[in-house]
This record gives sequence, structure tokens and C-alpha cells, in this order.
Amino acid sequence: MTIVKVEVCGVEGQGRNVTLAKQDAMRRIARILEMDYNPEYIVIRDQWALVYATPHGYNVVMPSEKSGKLYGHGHGELGPRDELVKATRLNLLQLTWTPADNMKHPEATEQENRELASWFEFQLRYKAAEEAGATDTEAHNYAGKNPQTPELWQDGYACGECAGCAPGQRKGLCIKVPSWRRILGDA
Ligand SMILES: [Zn+2]
Repeated sequence: MTIVKVEVCGVEGQGRNVTLAKQDAMRRIARILEMDYNPEYIVIRDQWALVYATPHGYNVVMPSEKSGKLYGHGHGELGPRDELVKATRLNLLQLTWTPADNMKHPEATEQENRELASWFEFQLRYKAAEEAGATDTEAHNYAGKNPQTPELWQDGYACGECAGCAPGQRKGLCIKVPSWRRILGDA
């Protein structure tokens, strides 16, 4: 099946023939005119972002923490504005979250806190493992409960092969369980 591409007022349309391709371009022009051109300024703690419209779709721009310069990205072509605002808020909540906030960012809605719950949990577990002496990789596997490394996160893990796993031994003595994992208390 051939696809015909035409340009109407600088906007490309596609279709099985010229008429359909022109109709497609006209629909796109109508969508561009219907976009919400009000900018949305979002501030969470000391971070901000601006969501704004361009004829190519909605964009977001925010200052880079390192350089202080603005960087941004588009949202694909003419994607929904609400989704970009929502994703931007989640991004700012993550950027401004600290372990002291525990499982609730004070500036997040209940719904946002629920959506970020597994991310908060991962961060807190990662930090705990790191402080107990785990390497980056170990902390990552512990926080993410990697099925390949159950000895790093599974409660009462026992390999069943070592002397520590012999009957009558206290759990947590398995040689595969690293010492930092025992510091965390639930090995
Ligand atoms: Zn064992």
C-alpha cells in the first residue's frame, strides 16, 4: 500500500491518496490551533519547570542542576498536555525528594505519593544497603530485589548447601549472605 505525503501550509499530512493526505494535514492544523498555549509554571521546593506549547507539540524546560542552564524536551508530536504536566511534576518530586521525607513527599498529592511509593522504597533500601557497606551493584540488587541475587534481599535466605544452612543453625549465617546484609537485620 502506498502512502502519499502532502504539505499544507508547512504541515505534512499522510494518506492513501492526495485527498486523504490533505485531510490528514488539515486535521493536524486544526489540532495545532486547538492547543493550550497558556504556559504552566510548576514549582516544587527549589526546582521549577515550565510546560509550554509550540506548533510541534508541548515542551517542558527546566534548569539543569549542574550548569544552571535551561534544558528541555518535547513530548512527541501533539501528545496530551495533561500527561506532560503530570510527568513533569513526578520528575520534580523525585529531584527534590530526600531520604528524610521517607515514604511521603510533603508537596505531592496522595495519588502522586502512591505512584512514587516503589521509587521511594527503592531509594530508601538503596541508601540503607550503601550505609551498611554494600557496593553500588549490591545496593542496586538489594533495593530492586533482583531475583538473580536472593541472598542480598530475601528474608532468611538459605542456600541449603553451606555449613551455615545446616539444620539447627540460626538463619543469616549462610556464607552467601554478605556481612552488610546481616547489619540490616533482616537476613
Ligand atoms: Zn547457605
